Amino acid sequence: MTKQGDGRTSRDHIVHATMAGGTVRALAAVTTDTAAEAQLRHGLYPTAAAALGRVLTVTALLGAQLKPPQQVFVDIVGDGPLGHIKANADANGNVRGYVSNPRVHLPLNDGGKLNVGAAVGKGHLYVTRDFGLKESYRGYVPLISGEIGEDFAYYFLHSEQLPSLVALGVLVEKDYTVRAAGGLIVQLFPEADEEVVSHLEAVAARLPAVSSSVDAGMNAEDLIRLAADGLDVTVLQESPVRFHCGCSRTRFERALIALGKEELEDMLAEDGEAELVCHFCSAKYHFDGPQLHALIEEAARQTQ
Ligand SMILES: [Zn+2]
Repeated sequence: MTKQGDGRTSRDHIVHATMAGGTVRALAAVTTDTAAEAQLRHGLYPTAAAALGRVLTVTALLGAQLKPPQQVFVDIVGDGPLGHIKANADANGNVRGYVSNPRVHLPLNDGGKLNVGAAVGKGHLYVTRDFGLKESYRGYVPLISGEIGEDFAYYFLHSEQLPSLVALGVLVEKDYTVRAAGGLIVQLFPEADEEVVSHLEAVAARLPAVSSSVDAGMNAEDLIRLAADGLDVTVLQESPVRFHCGCSRTRFERALIALGKEELEDMLAEDGEAELVCHFCSAKYHFDGPQLHALIEEAARQTQ
């Protein structure tokens, strides 16, 4: 259990496991509280809540494969009404993200599900892994359906040569709150037996929606055992995950100071104050007249 930013307790977690004697990698997450916090912070409408919840889930799963201080950045650039979707996770289970347009809700698709694909549209998916020491790796693929899960399966196959099942789901209530969210990634290493592969494919075809399984009370290990359906499972690690943004007032002060004395003076003359909003978590930082004045003095001092 970990504390959310507002003091609530989160049950969200990730399990990293292998199956079939280590020839298959499996990662699963319960992210209900993470997706719920994103919905609340950004005022997301249902389709936007589902889209961002799925992206936060897969980004957290990618983060779980890193080591501190490594980070992963996901950027989905589609031509649909949501605009960009951006998310960032570290190796300690902290994940944050946003959509350009949070107030997007579309009619349900033919399957009666939230139409994330239409809200995302056509475009590209970018994954950047920042390994620290100025080393990073960026891969990208075109979006296949905009449903996020299929797009990541395509990404893993083409960018990492790993045939993968990616299932991501967010259940949103009529009052826009998130009821359940989770995700599952199953990846076949080249040494996986043909029999194992066909077994997993057959199971995948009849797996219930991951959000329904989470809603029924399953934890991440249960999701993996459900997908394994009798194959041996070895749990390597279980770790917490939460929506957390590392922004702070100090960081925004530094950003204002970096604008320089003249720009800050214009701001003070025109508006008398400044309000900055963090894209990633919607936190607001307000600077009144005297506070802006102090930053102007600091900016002047730094350029002397
Ligand atoms: Zn923030």
